[in-house]
Amino acid sequence: MSLDTSSVVAWLTDFASVIHDNADLLTDLDREIGDGDHGSNMDRGMKAVAELESASFPTAADYLKKIGMTLVSTVGGASGPLYGTFFLRVGTAWGDAASAEDLGKALRAGLDGILARGKAEVGDKTMVDALTPALAAYDEHASEGIEAALNAAALACAAGRDATIPLVARKGRASYLGERSAGHQDPGATSVTFLIEAAARSLA
Ligand code: ADP
Ligand code: MG
Repeated sequence: MSLDTSSVVAWLTDFASVIHDNADLLTDLDREIGDGDHGSNMDRGMKAVAELESASFPTAADYLKKIGMTLVSTVGGASGPLYGTFFLRVGTAWGDAASAEDLGKALRAGLDGILARGKAEVGDKTMVDALTPALAAYDEHASEGIEAALNAAALACAAGRDATIPLVARKGRASYLGERSAGHQDPGATSVTFLIEAAARSLA
């Protein structure tokens, strides 16, 4: 079994529809501690991704890299380059994603790209706070197969997202608020949880 372009299409189609349905929620969260554009930014980017002609890419890896470039050029804000880097790196490390370990390595490469680009650490109240425990849980369950690993990752991602609520932001726009950023859920941690939940539904 390997994850081909149609698997990636299923993942990104699911994610695009959840982003669309939750664009107002993401924008409201971003209005509380940012500038209120995360939902519209992500919805615009995922619409552009949905318009890509997936069949025109020779491999799933090529398609993933194009998704990354599309997100860089359409999402904007802090999250556009971060999401873009994630998919560029996932694509570069994808291979044919034949095993749970392979998929884990690709997702890990994506997170490493976000860390290299954004320089956030766990506890800074960003998407990194959700993705880091998600990938740790994935690795812990990878020997049980892709479905078990992704389900564990989705649960850990959601817990990491919830854990951003009491945190004081140290990166991104929310950090301008200082202590006043505490008590609000991070929008980027919320959208990456939708991404991992979509993977658990569609790639498993
Ligand atoms: P902007 O803040 O430029 O308006 P968005 O609203 O689209 O961009 O995205 C905000 C989200 O980006 C935050 O909720 C946070 O999760 C994420 N973010 C911001 N800066 C960083 C960073 N340096 N590293 C990781 N994630 C970040
Ligand atoms: Mg914003």
